Amino acid sequence: MDDATTVIGSGEALRDEVAAWLKANWDPSVLTSAQGGRGEGYRAWIGKVVEARWAAPRWPVEWFGRGLSNEQARIVEREFARVGAPGTGQDRTQLYANTLLAKGTEALKAKLIGPILRGEIVMCLLYSEPGAGSDLAGVRTRAELDGDHYVVNGQKVWTSTAATADYGMLIARTNWDVPKHQGLSFFFLPMKQPGVDVRPLRQITDESHFNEVFLTDVIVPEENLLGPLNAGWGVLQTALAYERSVMGDNARGPRSGVAESTEEEPLIALAREAGVLADPVIRQEIAKAIAWRKLNALNNARAKSDLAQGTSSSIMSLGKLAMSRILHEEARVRTLILGAGSLLEGKDYPRAEDANFLTLNAYFTSIGGGTDQIQRNIIGERVLGLPKEPEVDRDVPFRQVRGN
Ligand SMILES: Cc1cc2nc3c(=O)[nH]c(=O)nc-3n(C[C@H](O)[C@H](O)[C@H](O)COP(=O)(O)OP(=O)(O)OC[C@H]3O[C@@H](n4cnc5c(N)ncnc54)[C@H](O)[C@@H]3O)c2cc1C
Repeated sequence: MDDATTVIGSGEALRDEVAAWLKANWDPSVLTSAQGGRGEGYRAWIGKVVEARWAAPRWPVEWFGRGLSNEQARIVEREFARVGAPGTGQDRTQLYANTLLAKGTEALKAKLIGPILRGEIVMCLLYSEPGAGSDLAGVRTRAELDGDHYVVNGQKVWTSTAATADYGMLIARTNWDVPKHQGLSFFFLPMKQPGVDVRPLRQITDESHFNEVFLTDVIVPEENLLGPLNAGWGVLQTALAYERSVMGDNARGPRSGVAESTEEEPLIALAREAGVLADPVIRQEIAKAIAWRKLNALNNARAKSDLAQGTSSSIMSLGKLAMSRILHEEARVRTLILGAGSLLEGKDYPRAEDANFLTLNAYFTSIGGGTDQIQRNIIGERVLGLPKEPEVDRDVPFRQVRGN
């Protein structure tokens, strides 16, 4: 890595520095390469961004950053966005690296932060279990210390990208004699080892991104524990806040591969193409969907400025819940625009295919990372200060909770 110095001084000097670096290094053709922008050229570019310390400029200098303020880092992000270059802003959006930086041991940070930022390793989330989803504190996967490592046994489910993952962020029970939130620990579990059995699940969209993961006598080195033993619930809150802050932003778009106009708002372009742009009801529905998206962008900007490194923000829940409603609503308006034609399916009907896919895929955001109902509970309790919902097993040692 270069001996880059922390940028101080005026925003203008910083803007000039970023612009000059981009001018010297950015080649937009990496986004249009044969592998759809995810190939070798793309990875080499991300490596360059990391090395130049633009990937996570808010982070400390010793961890790939420049120690910039939020305001300064936004200048960097704006310059990257201006030329369409990816790779910066990982200090806001990289769930795994942010969690690791905030809570990981020095040894684990030294080993994995660089490869994660450079996209060299694939990660997954080993949270949900058949008996613990919304009530994540009820997980039954166990981790037991044995010398210098933990031995993990249990089952996880709905694990996205588990089939290719190198590491999973795992929440497991390490103490059964205390109430459920107090006996959990948080680990980086190496996935490529005997005892990790990954079985794909078929989704409603006919894809298989999810998996069941069976863990039998799986080994996790002690240095892969994040935060203190039995304090995993707090680490999980940090990780969940990062996940929720980017879930809506990462939602997939149409999948038919037949390009849509990029000249105007996608719903307006679709209505124009379908010949219904003059229909007053459709115009009203499109206007409402666009207004929701714009409003949410403003709220997200507010939430992100609230999220300092290593903390969680309840305002994030508003953004994720809003994005879930927006995705369902936009898919509904697409269907309205296409009318009966949206009942068609397959490659000969790409617009219908996209409307149907987006309708089904909208559930990704309204279930994954915490359901809409759970987001409402969080907003009610932590933002609005309403009374907490009753939880009869909250103070009972987990071993005595019914079902164990
Ligand atoms: C696209 C996608 C990707 C996912 N990826 C991962 C992943 O990579 N790793 C991982 O670990 N998990 C993953 N999940 C799982 C996801 O986190 C869980 O599905 C989610 O937390 C809900 O848990 P559950 O399915 O067990 O439903 P349950 O918790 O059984 O909930 C069932 C229903 O009851 C409602 N409900 C439950 N409790 C309450 C309450 N207290 N108040 C009001 N309503 C309530 C819920 O809102 C829901 O409608 C993913 C899910 C999806 C859809």
